[in-house]
Amino acid sequence: MIEKEKDHMTEFSGFELAPSILRAVADEGYTTPTPIQIKSIPSLIEGRDLLGVAQTGTGKTAAFALPLLNRLGKEPGKPDHRRPRALILAPTRELAGQIHDSLRTYGRYLGLRCGVVFGGVSIRPQIKMMSQGVHILVATPGRLLDLMNQGHVMLENVEVFILDEADRMLDMGFIPDVKRIVKNLSSRRQTVMFSATMPKTIEGLAGTLLQDPVQVEVAPTATTVEKVEQRVLFVEKGKKRALIGELMNDEAIKRVLIFTRTKHGADRVAKHLQSHGIETDAIHGNKAQNARQRALDAFRNGEIRALVATDIAARGIDVDGVTHVINFELPNDPESYVHRIGRTARAGAAGIAISFCDLEERAYLKDIEKTIRQSVPVFEDHPYHSVEIANDPGTTKRSPQKQRGQRYRNPENFHDPRRPSKPSHASHANSANNQRKSNGGQRSSRRPSGRAA
Ligand code: AMP
Repeated sequence: MIEKEKDHMTEFSGFELAPSILRAVADEGYTTPTPIQIKSIPSLIEGRDLLGVAQTGTGKTAAFALPLLNRLGKEPGKPDHRRPRALILAPTRELAGQIHDSLRTYGRYLGLRCGVVFGGVSIRPQIKMMSQGVHILVATPGRLLDLMNQGHVMLENVEVFILDEADRMLDMGFIPDVKRIVKNLSSRRQTVMFSATMPKTIEGLAGTLLQDPVQVEVAPTATTVEKVEQRVLFVEKGKKRALIGELMNDEAIKRVLIFTRTKHGADRVAKHLQSHGIETDAIHGNKAQNARQRALDAFRNGEIRALVATDIAARGIDVDGVTHVINFELPNDPESYVHRIGRTARAGAAGIAISFCDLEERAYLKDIEKTIRQSVPVFEDHPYHSVEIANDPGTTKRSPQKQRGQRYRNPENFHDPRRPSKPSHASHANSANNQRKSNGGQRSSRRPSGRAA
């Protein structure tokens, strides 16, 4: 059953949340709850279990965090040593860190202690924090299990358990860890599960974890996709680096997130841009946590203009004011494309996403267009545009060496991605159907390049 949108809940004051929480929300400048918040918050306040299909960028963190803070804030008390009252599991360190930050933000007027634990950093401060006690613990599964096995975290007092980005947990091979953790939870708990897609395994997991859950769903793909001005540039693989160097001459590209498929690719692009005098850093699973955090902070506060990332590292990155996303390489998974371009156009802003597509990636583009149910307009009037790649049907895999027959045109448009040619085959006809499409079945076989926690 999909919970009907509750129209009267169009203001935060319509929810039965403590005044101190409403005040913190107002401090953040939120005026209207997002659809996932409207659909989730009342049921969560009632204490129901919930299964939410929503992606990062929809406001899902506040959707589960506000009712949680509201519940625990009624009787904050002193936290018990090693025994949190709420547990939030997230697949990546970045997401765990961001959830923790959000809890501190929304809970700033409450006397609750929140802590976060993840791998890749020293365990000692986390042991110390747990011995002092926290009310809410945010964790990645691997490190939490380590702490549990060493007796530093006990879960029997957990009243609220939240599993975020369950499908990504699956992709990253964390489901066995999650199940081990769940075994330690009391059955008298409220459980909340969010997932961007609903593959069979996740559906099965939801069946075992949740009791009579309210089900809510929002369609972020359509919203995100519609807000982002998308362009694809057909370019030979060997010319991508030169192309990105040229594109970066455009001053309209103020804060750009660049995606590659591999960690080494990310490093190579970052080095290339640095050698052109562009402040750039890379963020991926091979980097130490503090290096990743430093890069993210520098990107957030504008010290660096470009951040090159892999999909896993960028998952959940929440940086305002990203003017452009550049797909240096297209992802082979359409959902990742949607996640990537959603890093721009945050919180109602507009954004531009430019994708480089070489011959080998033509098939990926085809899948993406099928998923988003639109054709991505082609940046034809560009010196790097390859007619041969543009004309390739995208059904066969061909070696990149066979690329030839590039045609150059109208170099004036070169630096201005906002002045692309008319879309070549842009038909937005199906925009009513332009909704998030779960293709979770395909995703389950895909393995990312590294474990994040
Ligand atoms: P999330 O999907 O939880 O990652 O949230 C995406 C972004 O939306 C974050 O930057 C939040 O701060 C922001 N946000 C969450 N709820 C609201 C709201 N009701 N109004 C405006 N921004 C919001």
